[in-house]
Amino acid sequence: MGEGHPECPERLDAIGDYLLATGLMQWLTPYEAPEATLEQLSRAHASLYVHEIMAAAPAHGYLKLDPDTSMNPHSLPAALRAAGAAVLATDLVLSGETQRAFCAVRPPGHHATRDAAMGFCIFDNVAVGIRHALEVHGLERVALADFDVHHGNGSEDILAGDERVLMVSTFQRGLYPFNGEAPSAANMVNVPLAPRSGGEALRHAVESTWLPRLEAFRPQMLFISAGFDAHRADDMGELGWTDADFSWITQSLLRVADRPCEGRVVSCLEGGYELTMLARCVAAHVRELTGTA
Ligand SMILES: [Zn+2]
Repeated sequence: MGEGHPECPERLDAIGDYLLATGLMQWLTPYEAPEATLEQLSRAHASLYVHEIMAAAPAHGYLKLDPDTSMNPHSLPAALRAAGAAVLATDLVLSGETQRAFCAVRPPGHHATRDAAMGFCIFDNVAVGIRHALEVHGLERVALADFDVHHGNGSEDILAGDERVLMVSTFQRGLYPFNGEAPSAANMVNVPLAPRSGGEALRHAVESTWLPRLEAFRPQMLFISAGFDAHRADDMGELGWTDADFSWITQSLLRVADRPCEGRVVSCLEGGYELTMLARCVAAHVRELTGTA
């Protein structure tokens, strides 16, 4: 994204190093993410937009897509692989090769709308995975849980009104992208949280709103937009969550997903910019996903 940008390559290095150093890697099977195809991307994005991004990718230097989002010559392959990771993870989980998958990807995806890049995001990786599960694998009900500190406006834009999907989200009120307070469709469950409301407000939101809606919906598969920027060490937001909150939210989602989804979960990395915290909290999240907590 350019010099000094928080959405930097070191994020994935920090995660990879920490998974190795803590021994957690021995419980995981790594896969190389393939590039998503035009057909796969066009299930979530306007094909005109996908063509425009492919044509706009610079051969050198930087191209600004929005005030926060740039492309360099490596960005298009990275964005294609980030979305392709969600597709491969969906295939692996639905073929039974693995039960749960975590996509350590960047750029993140949940701000990319049907026809625009924004907020560090080029393609909405998780939405591409969800549409793949619905349209290629024929699932009828899929849930998305988004706990990034920012509202997943791109996922809402793409998935609102798609009754095969239930999206539950929490985010800090009044923060970028400055929307989401009023959900745009009946399949959107948006819970804005007040700055400095801490883990207590998160737990209340999940227990009183998310879990009953998820239980009633009975999803066949759960996707997670796993953003870690609500942590108190991350200066992107002020929700003040702790490591324990990310473990708790993962456990709560797995509990509700385990029965109707038969444990099928695909989690995609979204935000989280303080590197030490990011690595630690991704590990805590993955530890819950692997059942080694
Ligand atoms: Zn975020």
